[in-house]
Amino acid sequence: MKQLIAANWKMYKTVAEAKSVACELTDLVPDLPENAEVAVFPPFTALAAVAEAFKGRAGFTLGAQDVYPAGEGAFTGEISPLMLLDAGCAYVLCGHSERRHVLGESDEFVGKKVAFSLEQGLAVVLCVGETLPQREAGDLSGVLRRQLESGLAGVPAGLEANRIVIAYEPVWAIGTGKVAGVAEIEQAHAIIRSYLEEFCPAIGRDVRILYGGSVKENNAGEIKRLVNVNGLLVGGASLQAGSFAQIIEA
Ligand code: PEP
Repeated sequence: MKQLIAANWKMYKTVAEAKSVACELTDLVPDLPENAEVAVFPPFTALAAVAEAFKGRAGFTLGAQDVYPAGEGAFTGEISPLMLLDAGCAYVLCGHSERRHVLGESDEFVGKKVAFSLEQGLAVVLCVGETLPQREAGDLSGVLRRQLESGLAGVPAGLEANRIVIAYEPVWAIGTGKVAGVAEIEQAHAIIRSYLEEFCPAIGRDVRILYGGSVKENNAGEIKRLVNVNGLLVGGASLQAGSFAQIIEA
């Protein structure tokens, strides 16, 4: 299974900036490590520019940061899976903590996005993770169970394992500079693996689980090599080509 190293650019970068960073990245990493695949999730406005920069570059793929679970219709401001496929996306993020906690998305709504995106042909990166109060209340396992059970409820039978990816992102570690410890990451990933085997028995063992939360050049290598860690989801440190290139090669 290839490690997936993913870059979430959030609400940063104009079209020109996105194009420049994507081109610099492909220059800095002329050959991806054999076991790695890269996915960049720029803002919607920069999807076409990044798609153009990645043209002909094996292993560099494009993703969108969000999606609406309908084919088309009167949903002002939203975007459909078919539109994302048309723009060159292979992946979509569903349930990022900023959408759950800032924009109020429920576990059920995230599950609808996952199911519809898979049905329409996108691969999905489903983000899960606990807040600090939930962790301190001893509810890590309960939160992960709820988010995964709802998020995976509509995964169709017969889906290939590489079409769904889980990103474990403890909310208290996102954009804060606080990285989860090695033991905390291994514990959460083991819990996620066991729920994957329960909810998706045919593919649960082979679904990739990424870690995200203040990953930087200096900690990426150690985290990548932990048991049940199959890649990284990187926010802040992916905004510059230099630091993201080092994370890819760590
Ligand atoms: C993220 O946005 O998914 C993320 C992990 O951000 P950061 O790396 O900045 O913590």
